[in-house]
Amino acid sequence: MPGFPVHISASSVLGAGYGAAAYFVGDLPPVTCVMAAGLCSVAGMMPDLDSDSGVPLKESVAFTAAVVPVMLLQRFQQFSLPLEAVILVGAGLYLAIRFGLAYLLETYSVHRGMFHSVPAALIAGQLTFLAFGSQDPLHRYFMASAVVLGFLSHLVLDEIWSVRLGLFGPKVKKSFGTAVKFYGPTAWANMLTYLLVLGLGAAAASDAAWTEKVAAVRQQMEQASRQIYTVPQPWLRR
Ligand SMILES: [Zn+2]
Repeated sequence: MPGFPVHISASSVLGAGYGAAAYFVGDLPPVTCVMAAGLCSVAGMMPDLDSDSGVPLKESVAFTAAVVPVMLLQRFQQFSLPLEAVILVGAGLYLAIRFGLAYLLETYSVHRGMFHSVPAALIAGQLTFLAFGSQDPLHRYFMASAVVLGFLSHLVLDEIWSVRLGLFGPKVKKSFGTAVKFYGPTAWANMLTYLLVLGLGAAAASDAAWTEKVAAVRQQMEQASRQIYTVPQPWLRR
């Protein structure tokens, strides 16, 4: 299997291309493009969260724990939480990911299990969509796709590395077909994965609808307030 440096370089190059294309072709703001490039790059090492290999796992989990609460800031604002609550929830999330998620990964995940699969890439994208509560729906799809892209790049690289050119043509290693897959050998892991895909899909869909409704209401209110200000007010004139 390709090492950590191979994965992160590939997804970073891919992310840079994705961000650049969005900037030049899609006319998206530069910060949005840079963030998407960064997400794609980080997503390129996500599937290997299932390998209990010390430093990369610990670093990735710590990084996720730090970035997720910041990504959720906009969501906290949408629920108009007071600053104290935002700090408490942020700290709680950090601890939950840093220790809770790390524990779950170390205890239950199997290397090249369902973490290395196409539905897992979908889950990563759905989580990004839900966490990144931008008011512009396009930006949310853009970030979620960046994560799916980075994640898939990892799976494809894992598969490429399982084919070696031998003396008599290409040879396939035992790990072939364990990365770009839709289901694994463990029933409960498959069930859990697809339940997550369905559950998060439903949450993302209802959230998208809700955000659109809020945006429509905001627009109406802005229009209404503009009308109020343009009403002639003769009593103010002298
Ligand atoms: Zn891998």
